[in-house]
Amino acid sequence: MTANRTEPETAKLITSPKCAAKLLQAGKLVAFGTETVYGLGADATNAQAVAGIYTAKGRPSFNPLICHFASAEAAFQHVRPNAMAQKLAEQFWPGPLTMVLPRQAASPVSQLAGAGLPTLAVRVPAHPVAHEMLALAGRPIAAPSANRSGHISPTSAAHVLASLGGRIAAVLDSGPCAVGLESTVLDLSGPAAVLLRPGGITREALEAAIGPLSTATAPGAALASPGMLASHYAPSLPVRLNATAPGPGEAYLAFGPAPPSALMFQLSETQNLTEAAANLFEALHWLDEHAAQHGLVAIAASPIPAIGLGLAINDRLSRAAAPRG
Ligand code: AMP
Ligand code: MG
Repeated sequence: MTANRTEPETAKLITSPKCAAKLLQAGKLVAFGTETVYGLGADATNAQAVAGIYTAKGRPSFNPLICHFASAEAAFQHVRPNAMAQKLAEQFWPGPLTMVLPRQAASPVSQLAGAGLPTLAVRVPAHPVAHEMLALAGRPIAAPSANRSGHISPTSAAHVLASLGGRIAAVLDSGPCAVGLESTVLDLSGPAAVLLRPGGITREALEAAIGPLSTATAPGAALASPGMLASHYAPSLPVRLNATAPGPGEAYLAFGPAPPSALMFQLSETQNLTEAAANLFEALHWLDEHAAQHGLVAIAASPIPAIGLGLAINDRLSRAAAPRG
């Protein structure tokens, strides 16, 4: 069994957006300053690079990541904006507003970046250095905050180096962050606008533009089971964990050498956890789509070691396996 480790890297402190863009295009991880906080960027279309974000952060779960763009025009090539989104983009972009919108079917953003969801969170940062880097990279850049999981969000290049210095390729020094608060996240994928996270753009400012917003969790509302939260993808078929072989009626999600099965998706032949993470959402969607035509009614998932990225993979699989209401 090979536990997957990323190459130990010593982050270079760089000031050239061009150099940062080149590293991103090569699949490297680059932290960069925005007006909100420093983000840990990777090419969103490269699932292996996105998996690296989770390894570097030591994040135990796959949350959907925000994709960053140089312009609204670039962002709207990957999502379908409605009238509210168009209006908010005109008024608040570039700036600390993230919009969750239906994904364009043809978008090359990896399933891992969007955690398998049919929506994508997009933002156009206002910071001039970030803007230049994004324009030069010429592709969506997925970026959560550039800190180890559970640590506070970094607002300077020094914070990033202290937290992730040994784990990423470079930090693009963009000076201190002007806002210092995360972006406001607004879900515009349904008929009503829902405030998912308060942040740099106030609720009042948004309501002045598009009218009243709903809040994600209304006070007193029952909490849906974690696997069913709207922001978490789960396959429609039941999932059985730690299965060394598929049983009758089961498709198989394999990790390494696998017994013969009616329908199988191989996460990683060589048991490489980064490769498995990169393939995970693709695999669940694919098995879910193809099981019925083979007369299969469930997914059996191979055991995954609970180390490194295996923790996040197991988190996602156990949510998928949790009883549904
Ligand atoms: P962070 O990665 O820490 O900047 O946080 C990103 C925020 O955006 C989290 O609260 C995510 O849950 C939210 N988010 C990103 N993509 C989506 C999506 N497709 N649907 C709902 N929420 C999302
Ligand atoms: Mg964070």
